[in-house]
Amino acid sequence: MKQINTVNGTISPQQMGRTLMHEHFLFGFAGFQGDATLGGFKEEEYTRDCVQAVEDARAYGVSTIVDATTNECGRNARFLKKIADMTGMNIICSTGFYFQDESAFAYWNFRKGFADIQEEIFEMMYTELTKGIEGTDVKAGVIKLASSYNQITPMEEIFFKAAARAQKETGCVIITHTQLGTMGPEQAQLLISEGADPGKIAIGHMCGSTDIDYHERVLKQGVYINMDRFGLEGELFHTPTDEERMDVIKTLVDKGYGSQIMLGHDSVNVNLGRGLIMTPKMQELMKDANIRTIGKKVIPGLAKRGMTEDQIEALLTANPAAIFS
Ligand SMILES: [Zn+2]
Repeated sequence: MKQINTVNGTISPQQMGRTLMHEHFLFGFAGFQGDATLGGFKEEEYTRDCVQAVEDARAYGVSTIVDATTNECGRNARFLKKIADMTGMNIICSTGFYFQDESAFAYWNFRKGFADIQEEIFEMMYTELTKGIEGTDVKAGVIKLASSYNQITPMEEIFFKAAARAQKETGCVIITHTQLGTMGPEQAQLLISEGADPGKIAIGHMCGSTDIDYHERVLKQGVYINMDRFGLEGELFHTPTDEERMDVIKTLVDKGYGSQIMLGHDSVNVNLGRGLIMTPKMQELMKDANIRTIGKKVIPGLAKRGMTEDQIEALLTANPAAIFS
């Protein structure tokens, strides 16, 4: 794909600029659709929050945001296009489903008794990448895949195989969710063995691990990694801290992997369904869980570790442009 699908038209890789590889304007855990009586879609409030997120990202030079929300978790082509039209931000949306325990597993599990669901999932992805989503002309720009803690389940494997085929036929980028820093090497291996282009794959949530050997087992396969949960740190999220993650980036850059690393927060700007009650303790734990953290903490933190401006810019600008080229 020489041209990249954003939700309001195509751009070239050179037009991407600073890019966040994994955020969520809207996100709801599967099932939120069933709580619509008390947790319906609040158009005005959500619009305000998402426009604010765009402005917060733009304040440190971001001009492209990849929205990683999967189909059943509230991906909303119409709404994302509205936000892009209102703000001028390049927003790239996904096609795909989340990992088994937190996805709409029941639907596909039921269908597989009646149809070749790998073929059906391929058709879904292919149509959303090339024709449009839900009858609109908004096209997905990436495939989003996910696997479970310490395993790729048989259902998840069907999605990976369908995605590899859709990648081959469209040239699109694949981004992934790994659960708590597990299965990164296996995800890359599965996609590549199914014929996907390693140069178009970004294994996600790799900042869930501080094990350099684990990172190298992924990077040596020629794929990218997304260090994309900055701000979601520590105990509550079962993850390393942001400081530890920055140390990992510095080590990997020193080992020569600086052209294979990209950044994001996995921020959720709107929780779909009923609003969440934020206790003071939760507020404290979530204080950096927003789209500002890379600008505020990570860029200065990497500089403090001795990374050059060019090395830091590569993570935000050159590497996203390269994977989308
Ligand atoms: Zn995410």
